[in-house]
Amino acid sequence: MRTRASRLHNRFGSLYVVSGPSASGKTTILREICSDDDIWFSVSATTRSKRHNEVDGRDYFFMTEQDFRSDIEQGKFFEYATVHGNLYGTPREPVMERLRRGIDVALDIDVQGARQVRKTFNNAILIYILPPSREILEERLRGRGTESEESIQRRLEVADSEVCESRLFDYLIVNDDLDESVGDMECIMRARSLAMPDGGVYERWHPKKQKS
Ligand code: 5GP
Repeated sequence: MRTRASRLHNRFGSLYVVSGPSASGKTTILREICSDDDIWFSVSATTRSKRHNEVDGRDYFFMTEQDFRSDIEQGKFFEYATVHGNLYGTPREPVMERLRRGIDVALDIDVQGARQVRKTFNNAILIYILPPSREILEERLRGRGTESEESIQRRLEVADSEVCESRLFDYLIVNDDLDESVGDMECIMRARSLAMPDGGVYERWHPKKQKS
C-alpha cells in the first residue's frame, strides 16, 4: 500500500496503534498491511516464553525479567505493560528512528499500552479491532484449540474490561471478513497520509519564501 502521499505532505511518519482482544484478528490484519516497505510493524520485547513457531527478533525480542526491568529503568521503552502475567514493551529507538525517516509505524499492543501512547504521543492514530460480537469472539477462541477453558474465560474477561475503554480509540474496525478489514485499515491509513501538515504547506510549496 502506498502511504506517502506527495512531497508536500508530512515528512514525519505516522504512528498507528492497533489493539483488540486475542482472536480479534488484529495481528493477521497488520501482517497483511505491513507486508511492504511503506509501513513498519514494530517488534515488541516480552518476558513470556517463546512459542514453538516463534522466532526471536521476528515475532518478539524474548528477554529475562531482569533485563526487561533494566531497560525500563533506562527509559528504553516507548510504552510497556503487564499482559496476562508477562511484561511486554515497545522498544523506543527503532520506532522513533523510522518515524524520523518518514516511515509509518504500526504497533500491535494492548489497551494499557495504547493509553500510554495516547498520553505521550499526541498525533498517534488509535485503531480498535473487534469481532462482530462477544459470542463470535468466544467461538474463535475455542476454535483455536490452543486455550484451556480457564484461559478462554480469562481472555473474555480481559476483552470485556478493555471494551469499556474503547472510547480512547479513534477508529473501530469490525473484523467479520479479513479482506474487508484490511481494506478498512488501508482506508484509514490512506486518509491519514493526506492530512494537512501541521503549519500548512506554504514553506514546502514555495521554499525560497518564508511565511510572513
Ligand atoms: P501474545 O503473547 O498473545 O503474542 O500477546 C498478548 C497481548 O500482548 C496482545 O494483546 C498484544 O497486543 C499485547 N502486546 C504485544 N506486544 C506488546 C507491547 O509491546 N506492549 C503492550 N502494551 N502490549 C503488547
